Amino acid sequence: MKLADRTARIAGSPTMKVTATVDRLRRAGVEVIDFGAGEPDFPTPNLVKAAAHDALDHDFTKYTPASGILELKRAVTARYRADYGVDYDESEVIMTAGGKQALYNTALTLFGPGDEVITHAPYWPTLTEQIKLADATPVLARTYAEEGFAIRAQTILDAVTPRTRGIIINSPCNPTGALVAESELGAIADAAARQGIWIVVDLCYEKLIYDETPHNLPGVLNARCRDLTVLCGSASKAYAMTGWRCGWAVGPASVIAAAGALQSHSTSNVTSITQKAVVEALTGSQASVRTMLDEYRKRRDQLHAWLTADPRLRCLKPAGAFYMFIDVSDVLSVDGLRTSLDFADALLEESRVAVTPGEAFDAPGFIRISYATSMENLREGSARLVEFARAHAATTEAAAG
Ligand code: PMP
Repeated sequence: MKLADRTARIAGSPTMKVTATVDRLRRAGVEVIDFGAGEPDFPTPNLVKAAAHDALDHDFTKYTPASGILELKRAVTARYRADYGVDYDESEVIMTAGGKQALYNTALTLFGPGDEVITHAPYWPTLTEQIKLADATPVLARTYAEEGFAIRAQTILDAVTPRTRGIIINSPCNPTGALVAESELGAIADAAARQGIWIVVDLCYEKLIYDETPHNLPGVLNARCRDLTVLCGSASKAYAMTGWRCGWAVGPASVIAAAGALQSHSTSNVTSITQKAVVEALTGSQASVRTMLDEYRKRRDQLHAWLTADPRLRCLKPAGAFYMFIDVSDVLSVDGLRTSLDFADALLEESRVAVTPGEAFDAPGFIRISYATSMENLREGSARLVEFARAHAATTEAAAG
């Protein structure tokens, strides 16, 4: 059977593959601790759910404008004004089915054949797959564990060629948890402004930053290259709303209008009920965001202490998002577990703990643990992980000795 060429260029989402395996095992009655899922374990806040009930009760169940209702676009611009001091008009906002669609619309709107688009690695795989879906070529700028996975302007700018059309920055980054420093983004933006290169920022984890680190990326970009900037955000992680499917892109009106035309011929509007719920999420009390962040911080600190009790599991405390990115290369060997993919498979098989192998993020030698799960799961799962690493390292050492 002949499928379109683009299907051969695209790999399925490896993070979703882990979720599917866990589901299969659970259906077969196997108890698994799931560190794969990249979604909050908290329920959607009550006030947000109440707004959805209200929308249903008022029969707000019909088509809306494809790019979203005005009230919601205004909620986004008000949020960005309050959080970052930047001013956008409703014509500069499109509401999308999650941050994923915001990024996809943006890629299809800005990039095409022959274009190179730079992003940093390790990366969330959807970013590079979407570049390929737009018929453009991803170009990678490496970041390194020894440098805390810092995104360096110089590394990004060294990758620029006459074909570079865009730079995509994800901060806080999935999977590393790193934040781009404002000064580094400023240097990237100055160069982008001189050379007419688009900057797209994936801000899906913007509310999940643990310390008082300056992270006004919209402010930095507005001051330097507003006309070349697209900001992509999402209600998924901040408000524990992954299943509701709502995100947004904010950028120049011409880009947003083109993205709106695309969306009007594909998915049309975000679910009407979801839109009303997200108005409440963005404009109502932000207390639940702080409560969830405090809980994630406790889990991060505790998990880090549990894991680093074994020196073979090397990891940094992430500055943002909710992933621990662990270097397991000390446990790998030619006569044992050869790769982090082997590590993840054997960990699931032998210890019933699901993690995402670094190969999914172009970072072999690492595994990613999501700590968006209960402290009890973290305690039990990290104990199994430490035990697994000890057992396999002992086998390797015995073979070597
Ligand atoms: N960006 C990053 C870096 C992510 O990890 C995710 C979700 N895993 C998204 C965007 C998109 O999430 P959603 O579509 O649910 O908003």
